Amino acid sequence: MVDERSLIQRLQRGDPSAFREAFEQHKDRLYRLALNLLHDPDEAEDAVQEAFISLTRGIADFEGRSQLGTWLYRVTYNAALQRLRRARTTQGIVSDDSAAAERFKDPGAGPEERLDAAELRRRLDAAMATLPDSLRMAFFLRDVEGLSTLEAAETLGVTETALKVRLHRARLALREQITDAPLPGTTTAAGMSCEEAVSHVSDYLDGTLADDMRARVEAHVERCEHCRITVDSTRDTVALAGERRAVVLPAPRSTRLFSRLQAILAARASEA
Ligand SMILES: [Zn+2]
Repeated sequence: MVDERSLIQRLQRGDPSAFREAFEQHKDRLYRLALNLLHDPDEAEDAVQEAFISLTRGIADFEGRSQLGTWLYRVTYNAALQRLRRARTTQGIVSDDSAAAERFKDPGAGPEERLDAAELRRRLDAAMATLPDSLRMAFFLRDVEGLSTLEAAETLGVTETALKVRLHRARLALREQITDAPLPGTTTAAGMSCEEAVSHVSDYLDGTLADDMRARVEAHVERCEHCRITVDSTRDTVALAGERRAVVLPAPRSTRLFSRLQAILAARASEA
């Protein structure tokens, strides 16, 4: 990207308007990422601050090999993870996850009840909180943020294959919690077991299955109501996740954070 390369060059020259641009361009995604791991707006804001400070430190060595966005993502992810680990050691418990799980088990909503959008969002957030970090991040980067498999894999420092495995497991686990759809079937239809059909759901939805396999999965799904429901409810879960992209760094936080960053950078410049 030409724009990105010139932004990086301006950042390397210490152009203040470039820093503002990079901040505006990336703050919301970074905030969502940190918030997703930390579940605490203040902590998330601090992680974003760390990322932008790292940017000014690391920009001189920036080769532009990975995109600026991916790089910032990676730094924010690591900063948030560190905070999370610190919090877990000092508190000695994983209170957040279990609390979220408890909330999710709220018996108020019976299966008969129509789920409105807000309720579905609440369910998604609660269900995501119960996933292990590795699965949650794969799901978050791909389905909430809409990154490509490669970008998500690079951010997390894993192979694309590992990323896909995590994504698949995360999607199925979430769809089970969020939708009231029944568990996948356990029979065989059109020469394919439900177990095998379900193992391809994620690739099927992403359109990455080879043609012959895609045809076999489709033949199974056509004849197997259980698997049809599994495919549909997983698709719904992915669509629901995409709606979470609307979360942004609230304006008062954004203003405060930017002035804090400017103060930190000014102090550093006067030290040098
Ligand atoms: Zn089936």
